[in-house]
Amino acid sequence: MNSNEIEIHKELKKYFGFSQFKGLQEQVITSILDDKNTFVIMPTGGGKSLCYQLPALIQDGTAIVVSPLIALMKNQVDAIRSLSSENGIAHVLNSSLTKTEIAQVKKDITSGLTKLLYVAPESLTKEEYVTFLQSVKISFVAIDEAHCISEWGHDFRPEYRNLRNIIKQLGKVPIIGLTATATPKVQEDILKNLDMSDASTFKASFNRPNLYYEVRTKTKNIESDIIRFIKQHKGKSGIIYCLSRKKVESIAEVLQVNGISAVPYHAGLDAKTRAKHQDMFLMEDVDVVVATIAFGMGIDKPDVRFVIHHDIPKSLESYYQETGRAGRDGGEGHCLAYYSYKDVEKLEKFMSGKPVAEQEIGFALLQEVVAYAETSMSRRKFLLHYFGEEFDSETGEGADMDDNVRNPKHKVEAKEQVVK
Ligand code: ADP
Ligand code: MG
Repeated sequence: MNSNEIEIHKELKKYFGFSQFKGLQEQVITSILDDKNTFVIMPTGGGKSLCYQLPALIQDGTAIVVSPLIALMKNQVDAIRSLSSENGIAHVLNSSLTKTEIAQVKKDITSGLTKLLYVAPESLTKEEYVTFLQSVKISFVAIDEAHCISEWGHDFRPEYRNLRNIIKQLGKVPIIGLTATATPKVQEDILKNLDMSDASTFKASFNRPNLYYEVRTKTKNIESDIIRFIKQHKGKSGIIYCLSRKKVESIAEVLQVNGISAVPYHAGLDAKTRAKHQDMFLMEDVDVVVATIAFGMGIDKPDVRFVIHHDIPKSLESYYQETGRAGRDGGEGHCLAYYSYKDVEKLEKFMSGKPVAEQEIGFALLQEVVAYAETSMSRRKFLLHYFGEEFDSETGEGADMDDNVRNPKHKVEAKEQVVK
């Protein structure tokens, strides 16, 4: 199919009701419609889904979308179905379907009705499905969360490594890889593993100019320091990340005792309690959620005003993702991390039980976090450099939005503040 600018604007309006493309969407869609292998790197919330959904809807055949989480696939299928009068326009293929449901999915694909077929990577390895997909028209294969392919990413899934082989069996179909992980290492891995060094690559900026980055030395007074910080942000929504469930519980309790409305969130709580606490945060029945990294995937609360890291994260990607939940609406977003070298040693100890190769990667990623915490240069410049992006710390957008730039002596002062 040949891309045509006026047409795709019309289709955007028709299907999604939007009058403009966001960021690089239009270029990406043009590349896909021209049947090119395409690689898309955009931060979370950048609008990656539409990059493959729109071309899938307007092209002949069915686009296969590989995604790691069943819940996310279901959300997307529901969203696509709401745009159309035909339920069969989008389907999920996974192990929970009955025989009758699978027959219906196959029928809708064969008849050309289904434009988007979401599959988990492990389902795609099933021979029965591969044989079936060989017999139908595939427009392209989109691999969402493509960083899952890389051991250097924050969410490695071995099944993703098999995708290239399976796609090859489907004949000559364009591949679209999409990710919010911007480190050059992960990008290299993705291109290599999917065997698409020829891909047209589209990378959006990862700069979040409205976020303020701050690192404070962690002392034994951290709890009163956090309480003071939250009281200075009275009535505002915030997330506090802790490494362990135990810490989550104890911090949540300390906050409650100090008159701050806070709830804990971690994988040790039963599903009902987790859902309740998440809803309370989204509905603003509580101001603060104290959580392990289990919290946040797919959470879209636009007015989170601060994200506190009680403990340092295990990589700068995690840090970027977690702090990225602040200020989605473009308003204030204060990202405060507490740093002590003892925590680094603790994380290293956790890792020491893992296979050597994994340990090495883990240590290397952690060293970058240490360097970030200890740097005296612009934190924004440091972060963006890590993501392979040049940032001018004098004229760039948000250049003065961090402790090092505003106050080069921040470490001494932070200590004084805490000891008071
Ligand atoms: P990502 O996968 O990159 O994290 P999503 O695909 O989930 O991002 O999109 C984030 C949000 O942006 C969604 O609410 C989506 O509806 C919205 N969005 C995407 N494209 C546009 C557009 N062209 N105009 C307005 N909103 C858009
Ligand atoms: Mg996405």
